[in-house]
Amino acid sequence: MGNSVSTHHAPRNGVSARGQKKGYVYIAGAGPGDPELITVKVEKALRDADVILYDDLVSMELIDQYSAIKIYTGKRKDSHHFEQEEINREIVRHAMDGKVVVRLKGGDPFIFGRGGEEIDTLRGYGIRYEIIPGITAAHGASSYTEIPLTMRKISSSVAFCTGHPVDRIQVPETDTIVYYMVASTVHDVLDAVAAKGRSGSTMVAVVQNATRYNQKVYTGTLDEFRKRERAVYSPALLIIGDSIGQFIEHNWHERKKKVLMTGGDSGRYPSTDYIKVHFPCRQVSGADLKAVQQALESMGAYDLLFFQNKFSVKYFFHYLFQSGKDVRSLAHMTICTAGDAAAEELQKSGLVADHMVEPDGKAGYAGCLEDLGISSRKILLPGSNHVDEFLVSELRELENQVTPLGVYARGTQQEGDAIDLDSIDEIYFSSPICVRNFRNMFFTIPERITVAAADRRTEEEYRKVFRG
Ligand code: SAH
Repeated sequence: MGNSVSTHHAPRNGVSARGQKKGYVYIAGAGPGDPELITVKVEKALRDADVILYDDLVSMELIDQYSAIKIYTGKRKDSHHFEQEEINREIVRHAMDGKVVVRLKGGDPFIFGRGGEEIDTLRGYGIRYEIIPGITAAHGASSYTEIPLTMRKISSSVAFCTGHPVDRIQVPETDTIVYYMVASTVHDVLDAVAAKGRSGSTMVAVVQNATRYNQKVYTGTLDEFRKRERAVYSPALLIIGDSIGQFIEHNWHERKKKVLMTGGDSGRYPSTDYIKVHFPCRQVSGADLKAVQQALESMGAYDLLFFQNKFSVKYFFHYLFQSGKDVRSLAHMTICTAGDAAAEELQKSGLVADHMVEPDGKAGYAGCLEDLGISSRKILLPGSNHVDEFLVSELRELENQVTPLGVYARGTQQEGDAIDLDSIDEIYFSSPICVRNFRNMFFTIPERITVAAADRRTEEEYRKVFRG
């Protein structure tokens, strides 16, 4: 007999034999801050996720791009404070509902991450799970500040400790000690280390915002640090040990220019010289669902789909699939995109654009479309809830009928990571809207910071808004 062949129709939500839905939980580490320090495996889980429950130390930039529902479970002042019990209940609730849940934690889930408690709960409910490690803050800080945690002849052991609570600070005998959670207890930790008999000349480093664009590192000896009155801002690590060199304040990360990317990306900043900080200046969720539903049901009324950017593609298809339709319902339409990113996003849904127009050509969209002979068409224009009137009027100039459709909400970023302009060297504006949104958040741009614009329209907008 040959090998048995089984066709496996795994439904996304894993319906069990008894017809009861069963979810799946990934307890995953997001790494220390640099969004690129996430593992391939975690990224895959995030792509599969229906629900992402994320913590304080996870950057919005990292999870913004995934379509899952995102639930913030941290302790930011202006939002609901989740207790561990409540987080456990949330995980269980979504998993029992048959969802794929990613419980995303800063760093590694098993280093001061309470991953163990969540597993106990999952076991209690018989929910299936797996654990994906992350780069813990100590490892991130070590690489990004050039502090080896072990070093031949200088340090042959390392311990990870916590500076909290104050009355239980441990000082192990290892050559290097890394203390987590020290923002309010640095001096208590240093006193405890000195009391244990370590020499006053032992090297000490404080690393704030390790691996992020605004990483700061301060070094000195144990004695110097004990005399210093310097506030330490969270998140911060305290590293003690003589593998801390003298030049780490001028480390490789410090030498790179930090460029703030508003909106789209640009190839003009090679990663060997720049650190790109993505700051979308917009919120990409929320749509006029009723209008979207109506448009999807009357697709026959349109003969051209025009995608202005990758978000319009992403969210349009999100709703198309959600409504039970697929790309075949667009078969009669011509599809145009503005720019590469939208065309690439389109390919993810198995479609190749008929036309890709370059928005910064001198003649604008109208010229490009005229060249392509696009006039007297019925155009559906998915985009944000703030209609780009300029684009609409250009399309209408050519006698097209244009129906804008809000598939996502664009506003200034309210939630999440505020940008620390002190750590930024250059700002790249990708569109006039980004200039305006940015202006709503920051009234001025410090002289020190250079500015670059994607195209002529954006540059004009920048001059008008910030220099005019
Ligand atoms: N599971 C996490 C640690 C959570 S405890 C990990 O593996 O990294 C929270 C503490 O981690 C913070 O108080 C701080 O001491 C440390 N931490 C996390 N991210 C950090 C960062 N980017 N820079 C410095 N310290 C960080």
